[in-house]
Amino acid sequence: MFAKSPFETHSFLDRLFYIKRDDLLHIDFSGNKARKFEYFLSQDFKDINRVVSYGSNQSNAMYSLSVLAKMRGWEFIYFCDHIPKFLQQNPNGNYKYALQNGMKIFTGPNRAEDANGLKDSKTLIIQEGGRQKEAEFGIKNLAKELILDIKHKNIKNPYIFLPSGTGTTALYLQKHLPYRVFTCATVGDDEYLKKQFNELEKDKKHYPIILDSKKKYHYGKLYPEALKIYRDLKTDMGVEFDLLYDPIGWIKFLENIDTIEGTPIYIHQGGLKGNESMKARYERKYGKI
Ligand SMILES: *Cc1c(COP(=O)(O)O)cnc(C)c1O
Repeated sequence: MFAKSPFETHSFLDRLFYIKRDDLLHIDFSGNKARKFEYFLSQDFKDINRVVSYGSNQSNAMYSLSVLAKMRGWEFIYFCDHIPKFLQQNPNGNYKYALQNGMKIFTGPNRAEDANGLKDSKTLIIQEGGRQKEAEFGIKNLAKELILDIKHKNIKNPYIFLPSGTGTTALYLQKHLPYRVFTCATVGDDEYLKKQFNELEKDKKHYPIILDSKKKYHYGKLYPEALKIYRDLKTDMGVEFDLLYDPIGWIKFLENIDTIEGTPIYIHQGGLKGNESMKARYERKYGKI
């Protein structure tokens, strides 16, 4: 379905990292959301004419679903808790681009129930963040690419790291890779992440290894050290990472890296459309970035 994403070598803080550039997978449809939703591009779905989902008003999944719906000529209906007046008057980031793709967005206190309530034979319901079994199809393709990339570069003792939200990507990667997969929680704590794994897969041998950090980070909150590592990565590697998951991922990864033997491979999971709104938030808090 997609062209292979690039597999690059970069150095950061005097270490070598392989970076799987899933941010460059496709112009409109990138990152792990493209992998998670690939299944919905690969099948006919003759009877389907709309896709319904729910979550936050700046979600990467929301934007990616708007692309999917546009590519397939489906209606896209999305439920969120609220849309701030400021955002309605000044749309930006994922919200803006999803609207441009034709998203119909509704607010209400029971977004999951509202979305799931629209289930019928013509409707695909997508759970928040794309946490569902169909995601395995595209993530398995990512695993197959990685196996080829690793063989091609002849990497000794490789291991994978990627930050988790729902944990869907890390879990299915571990299920389909013969190498160790490390991840960290960015939403909720480690227990919450394990619970998420458990909802998708009962067999614990497929669970990735969760890395933690001394400091607790709250999802979506702004941290000066997160902004710093985002900037340093951009300067030193020439690669822009997302501002929501990746800074926390890199912080926790680097805190633990000396305890892991092998050659690190970091999965860039996209999300750059979302940086527009994250940057605006950082600039309102810390000045021009
Ligand atoms: C959605 C997303 C994640 C989290 O993926 P999960 O499969 O939910 O763990 C991480 N990074 C980026 C950039 C994302 O958009």
